[in-house]
Amino acid sequence: MPPPAHRRVGILGGGISGVALASQLGDDVDVLEKRSRIGGLCGTISENGFTFDAAGPHIMFSKNKDVLNLMVSVLGDNVHQRRRENKIFFKGRLVKYPFENDLAALAPEDNFECILGYLKNPRANDTPANLAEWSYKTFGAGISEKYFIPYNRKIWNHDPEKIGLEFVSRIPKPPLEDVLKSSIGIPTEGYLHQLNFYYPIEGGFEAMVRAFAERAKGRIETGWEVASVRFADEHWHVMSKGAEERLYDELVSTLPIHDLLAIWEEAPQEARTAAGRLRYNSLINVVIGCNVDPGYPYTAVYVPDSEILFHRLSFPKAFSEHCVPPGYSSIMAEITANEGDGIWELSDEEIVRRVVDDLEKIGFVEPSSIVYRRAVRFKYGYPVYDLDYRKNVTLMRDAVERTGMHLLGRFAQFDYINSDVCVERALALAPRLYQ
Ligand SMILES: Cc1cc2nc3c(=O)[nH]c(=O)nc-3n(C[C@H](O)[C@H](O)[C@H](O)COP(=O)(O)OP(=O)(O)OC[C@H]3O[C@@H](n4cnc5c(N)ncnc54)[C@H](O)[C@@H]3O)c2cc1C
Repeated sequence: MPPPAHRRVGILGGGISGVALASQLGDDVDVLEKRSRIGGLCGTISENGFTFDAAGPHIMFSKNKDVLNLMVSVLGDNVHQRRRENKIFFKGRLVKYPFENDLAALAPEDNFECILGYLKNPRANDTPANLAEWSYKTFGAGISEKYFIPYNRKIWNHDPEKIGLEFVSRIPKPPLEDVLKSSIGIPTEGYLHQLNFYYPIEGGFEAMVRAFAERAKGRIETGWEVASVRFADEHWHVMSKGAEERLYDELVSTLPIHDLLAIWEEAPQEARTAAGRLRYNSLINVVIGCNVDPGYPYTAVYVPDSEILFHRLSFPKAFSEHCVPPGYSSIMAEITANEGDGIWELSDEEIVRRVVDDLEKIGFVEPSSIVYRRAVRFKYGYPVYDLDYRKNVTLMRDAVERTGMHLLGRFAQFDYINSDVCVERALALAPRLYQ
């Protein structure tokens, strides 16, 4: 038997983290991806003329202008800008996102209760300890109880009282003047960050990962499922499902940490214990293609109503006309689920049926126009920032770091990050791999 191939850097996983990292390295690098295509959570479904971002709608933005410029420039001519047009579906009305910036769109009693709770808030000076308490302090009882808490309970599939405050830095806090104006009907835009975003013209969001892949000098191999990882004799030994062995000086894992620990027999026990306490949500997305185009201008519609299965709808045509055949339209419905919650256990057919029923109920789709439908599942969708998140994630990362293994990416580092931060961290890691 020939000796196993030996290269400088092995990268496990061909999502944006792994591929962007490879684009910054030399030719002595392998990216090993188990699926038949690269992309991971940035991956695309392209079937029957319909294109969807499989894990959920993706937009290209970043607070880091250098990273954003890089992401846009790798796409060359295949990129355009779009404007966010998000709404909240509340009691049959479409309210502009964020909710507190369009209170006049509510029924007068709801508007009154929201603005009263905001202005006369007995909890305004509290020190919040969890997401629910933060909401009461920031928005008051009306907005919290009608929208913020029900919506967050749905998307996190967890009680907002058990969600920590790590997450709140991402939530825009409205100036009082804006909320007041919104209640009496003076338009304000509110949350300007991400108002304009970039998106690939063709190929869905995955086109960005493919564009980075074109810049990689090393090998990107698909259909290469990593079955085991160990460190011995100064090298990382990586074995495929088909029992092919590779040796690397440096190993970077972008695999979900729970999956990495399952194939890494000698992983530190401390990492296993801490990772076992990290909570994540899975996703079931239903994609639907229709042979009519109602001309919805929305990018996404949030649905806080607990009677409706999905928490968000999105409309791929608003991201690029190339996502649907001419004259057609499409919708994606996202559902947060967890193994054992009864929803994850439903068959794909049952999920699709319930989504179509709900879409008809709230008036978004005429079932007879549906020509394409499918459910897709992602075991790892959202890391949940519960109250012990910071403690456990730090223990896990520190324990892995001491072994010399590098973790990179959303579920490897177990961090609620978007693709821009994956790219940013890949750029920072690349030079360290040649030291
Ligand atoms: C609903 C939703 C909406 C989002 N919206 C946005 C957005 O608007 N903008 C944005 O920038 N980001 C968004 N994101 C975040 C973005 O998708 C992620 O940050 C990014 O895709 C993570 O990339 P990654 O490479 O770190 O991980 P992943 O994409 O998870 O890549 C890991 C790869 O490892 C592979 N793998 C797993 N096990 C093995 C194995 N044993 N052997 C080999 N390969 C393996 C997987 O197949 C996968 O390709 C969103 C995410 C979700 C879920």
